[in-house]
Amino acid sequence: MVLISGGARGQGAAEARMLVERGASVVIGDVLDDRGGELAEELSRSATFVHHDVTSEADWVRAIETAERMGGLHGLVNNAGVYQPRSMDDTDIAMWERHVSVNQFGCYLGMRMVVAAMERSGGGAIVNISSVAGLRGAQQAFAYCATKWALRGMTRSAARELGGRNIRVNCVCPGVTDTEMLGHWDDAERASRVEAIPMERMGTAEEIARVVLFLLSEDSSYMTGAELAVDGGLAA
Ligand code: NAD
Repeated sequence: MVLISGGARGQGAAEARMLVERGASVVIGDVLDDRGGELAEELSRSATFVHHDVTSEADWVRAIETAERMGGLHGLVNNAGVYQPRSMDDTDIAMWERHVSVNQFGCYLGMRMVVAAMERSGGGAIVNISSVAGLRGAQQAFAYCATKWALRGMTRSAARELGGRNIRVNCVCPGVTDTEMLGHWDDAERASRVEAIPMERMGTAEEIARVVLFLLSEDSSYMTGAELAVDGGLAA
């Protein structure tokens, strides 16, 4: 059983579909109740949607209890994230706090709160979704960038702490990925972003999902504290 935060659409939804195709069960958490409910219905008995705001401790408790009732928690994808393009100058305190609250505090709550449930299942794997903006600086993404760098440090620290408890913690750094998160970009903006990517195209949610599934699976059994860039060469 894998819990995916922010799983109603985009990369999280791709991960949910791929996990179910491969025989796993998923709990999809999100604040988008309609989208999450529709996806769970599409995936039938192998998926359950829970309203899950990653900034709420009570929502984490409910999501984890749901996963345990469905057969034990073996995986967590800390995927929920927000991105509002702003330079440092234009980042006011509310904007800063929103990014930190969802992207960073949400991931902290998730990692900390799944440990007991994973131990009851005999161990597990956590995958934190950082970004290429967590590997280098970024323009118009000041607060976002700060949180995505933080996730790398949190991943490494948690990997050290949990290594002896049979819980692996790794991190994926997607590059420019064609999801609704970038829906506000017009054609000119998309073209100029693509120009900077060595592979000359955006990534797809499925291309990120395949790497996340690898890190959840036994194929990566000796990996913890690692960071995999899936970015068409953008950070190279
Ligand atoms: P997306 O916007 O489609 O998905 C993000 C999901 O997080 C949405 O379903 C949203 O409702 C959910 N969410 C937002 N706030 C939440 C909260 N408080 N609690 C629970 N869920 C919440 O975009 P995506 O591209 O699928 O993003 C997935 C992850 O990948 C994010 O962490 C994002 O920062 C990261 N990422 C995206 C890109 C990209 O180019 N799209 C690049 C690098 C990293």
